[in-house]
Amino acid sequence: MPTTHPKSGHTYHLQTAGDKLYKPDRVFDGETLHEGWAVLVKGDKIEAVGPAASLRSEGAEVIDLKGTTLLPGLIEGHSHLLLHPYNETTWDDQVLKEPRSYRIARATVHARNTLLAGFTTVRDLGTEGADYDDVGLKQAINQGIIPGPRMIVATRALIATGSYAPKGFSPDIDVPQGAEEADGHDRLIQAVRRQIGKGADVIKVYADYRWGLMSEARPTFTLDELKLVVEVAHSSGRPTVAHATTAEGMRRAILAGCETVEHGDAGTPEIFALMKQHGTALCPTLAAGDATIQYRGWKKGTEPDPERIRNKKITFKQALDAGVKICFGGDVGVFAHGDNARELEMMVEYGMKPLDALRSATSGNAAVFHLTDRGRIRPGLLADLVAVEGDPTKTIGAIRKVRLVLKGGVNPKP
Ligand SMILES: [Zn+2]
Repeated sequence: MPTTHPKSGHTYHLQTAGDKLYKPDRVFDGETLHEGWAVLVKGDKIEAVGPAASLRSEGAEVIDLKGTTLLPGLIEGHSHLLLHPYNETTWDDQVLKEPRSYRIARATVHARNTLLAGFTTVRDLGTEGADYDDVGLKQAINQGIIPGPRMIVATRALIATGSYAPKGFSPDIDVPQGAEEADGHDRLIQAVRRQIGKGADVIKVYADYRWGLMSEARPTFTLDELKLVVEVAHSSGRPTVAHATTAEGMRRAILAGCETVEHGDAGTPEIFALMKQHGTALCPTLAAGDATIQYRGWKKGTEPDPERIRNKKITFKQALDAGVKICFGGDVGVFAHGDNARELEMMVEYGMKPLDALRSATSGNAAVFHLTDRGRIRPGLLADLVAVEGDPTKTIGAIRKVRLVLKGGVNPKP
């Protein structure tokens, strides 16, 4: 029924004002692929989804997306918007030599590139020396000042004293660190609460790291320290996630109640069984290791896999075999923002089916990150959508051929 606007006097149809009907070739709803489906968007939400002929869409503007697959906006599970590729500038130099203003200016471009690549949400796991700058970045995005993805932020992240980096300096010098040092009962409680107070949505701990003069990673926090961090974060309704590459670091993180383990390179079948038992998700960051080794000179494709890559393929397969939830997250920032799809391609290269990799990047990450308003194409959820040319459930590389992105029903690049 037509309605008259009280101020302007314009007549409009209340049910259909601004509605848009998106007609791709097929819809991946976060779980299953449906040929011939369409999606009706009303404002910032999904109004309806189903076979194109079945959708009641009188008066809606029809957007023809012929040749494309429409998917939920992708959810990046492990980003660092305040870092840029290490082959441009080493991590040490980014942390020690780049002005914060420079890092923030870059981050605004990283945020835009991420969104335009179809990644409408990121879980940003640490500013790496840029204090709480992720909080302001998120604020600017949320206020529409700059384009960018919805952000879950970790702020500074927590490290055991002496365990992190930059390192390798004279022991007589105290070098600023890429995360916040805190240990023991009172200092850890204070650090977690301070990070939450300043805007952390999630608490990140480094359960192990390459420590001191040993080149191998070793556990850092004790199990009791990790349990304390998890308890304090959890009492405020926030999850804790752990960087862990060693089996023992992973074991402590799992037993302490960390919800995701980042990297997990040296996991074992026993550790992955423990993850499965505790419902801990693995964010394997395949692309970061792959990129780092290439920066050191590995000619991928022409030279054989180095040992670290061979091992990563084995442990990733062990995690899949154990039925561990896989969280899509590439540690993007080590490689270029906007190139997030690299991790999806590698998940497939290392043994996942494209459909499973896409589930991980949509409904899977939404579930792991407690995001009930996104990750699927379903009535009532946010209209965060991406249309790509071709069918990424058949050829994962199609995810790069982005034709349209919507965040809350709005095209950031009209
Ligand atoms: Zn990271």
